[in-house]
Amino acid sequence: MTIESTLTTFRERLGEVMDLHQAASVLHWDQEVFMPPKGAAARGRQLATLSAVAHRYFTREEMGRLLDELTEAADQLDPDDAKLVEVTRYDYERETKLPEAFVQAFALAQSAAYEAWVKARETDSFATFQPHLEKILDLLHEKADYLGYEGSSYNALLEEYERGMTVETLRGLFDVVAERQSALVEKIVNAPDPPDLAWTRGPWDEDAQWTMTLRLLQDMGYDFEAGRQDRSVHPFTTSFGARDVRLTNRVSPDDLFSALHGAAHEGGHGLYEQGFQEKDGRTPLADGISLGVHESQSRMWENMIGRSLPFWEHYAPVLRDLHPGRLDGITPQQFYQAVNHVQPSLIRVEADECTYNLHVILRFEIEVALMEGEIAVAEIPEAWNAKMKQYLGLDVPSDAQGCLQDIHWSHGSLGYFPTYALGNLYAAQLFEKILEDLPGLWDDVRAANFAPLLGWLRENVHRHGRRKTAVELIRDITGRPPAPGPYLTYLEEKYGRLYGLSGG
Ligand code: ZN
Repeated sequence: MTIESTLTTFRERLGEVMDLHQAASVLHWDQEVFMPPKGAAARGRQLATLSAVAHRYFTREEMGRLLDELTEAADQLDPDDAKLVEVTRYDYERETKLPEAFVQAFALAQSAAYEAWVKARETDSFATFQPHLEKILDLLHEKADYLGYEGSSYNALLEEYERGMTVETLRGLFDVVAERQSALVEKIVNAPDPPDLAWTRGPWDEDAQWTMTLRLLQDMGYDFEAGRQDRSVHPFTTSFGARDVRLTNRVSPDDLFSALHGAAHEGGHGLYEQGFQEKDGRTPLADGISLGVHESQSRMWENMIGRSLPFWEHYAPVLRDLHPGRLDGITPQQFYQAVNHVQPSLIRVEADECTYNLHVILRFEIEVALMEGEIAVAEIPEAWNAKMKQYLGLDVPSDAQGCLQDIHWSHGSLGYFPTYALGNLYAAQLFEKILEDLPGLWDDVRAANFAPLLGWLRENVHRHGRRKTAVELIRDITGRPPAPGPYLTYLEEKYGRLYGLSGG
């Protein structure tokens, strides 16, 4: 076989695997958006079958043979094809390392743990969840051994969400963030004269809110010919190819801003997915680099843009028109204060930009301690509550509002949480460079002209797909590896001004 025909066969096989994954994504999207409750059992079986078939198809011997041939002939491939072979080989090796019996045992433990977690949270009983989490933890150690790692066994888990990231690197970043961010929160909590937010009280018309989200997405440059926004309980973004990227959102009559920020956030994810190159379609190159990089895109649009004063100079009048008689006399500055209100709280998903990373770092520290055997599962509540006090100054009244609040551990997704905080750090580091490259950015935002920003992101981030790792991407763009400085400076300057703190 010539190298060209090997490549053609390889791309065709890969395309078929991608088709299976994307078909599963359609079913999953439908499950969250339209499926009637009684469809759940059949849908679960369909999704399990599709993912098993995709796995079997991808990991069969033919794929290994094609990868071997192409890797051997790598110097004859053009750079795009060589990259595709390299990325696919990486995925292939990870997928073939886990024996099918282990994958099944893990899936069983996950569904039992999930059920126990739901019950444990309802009844505020950590003891109900504890044996299941212990089982999950045993299996995660086994998984780490199958996958292999250097240093901490936690590194094997991180790799799944943030390729190349390590506990050592994260500690270097997070220790600085935890110290400076909790000091900032403490100053804000003690600041005099908090803004009066009585005017934000609902109810707010739901249709008007939905109209606002569509308008914002349109302004951001989200392509409605290649996507749509629907309602779901938890907002998310999914893609069936770069020309069909779906967003979901929710509207609450009590909250004027949550749907708007949800649209900015999911819109950021969606623009990333719509920005992959046509020629990468049906290959693993048309995908986000990592969860952290994906989150950098959503958080940049949601926070750095959507929670900026120039943004509100444009959108305050728009909101006033959408809610006649309700917002007269409310200034852009008042909107700016309201969307940046800081309030330490127990629940991560309700946390503001200023306290969010602290929720993540607390979880990261507990996860590493669990994997490294420094604490036992039974000691989680105590460790959790101590860290909430240390970082956010809060007493935790119950495990339901503490260590039982998130679904992630019941899924066995240890290593996932850090990517949320990394997203914030990456976003700020990229944004610092964007402001250098686009000195007129704030004037553009004030005019809701987001084309220059989107153009920059397309050129520097989106079009590369998975050609680089997160560290390579950040270093190529900013000249430095990921660092905590830009995010902390951004927070300290912004909130220092908002809350009139001296010395930033
Ligand atoms: Zn997100």
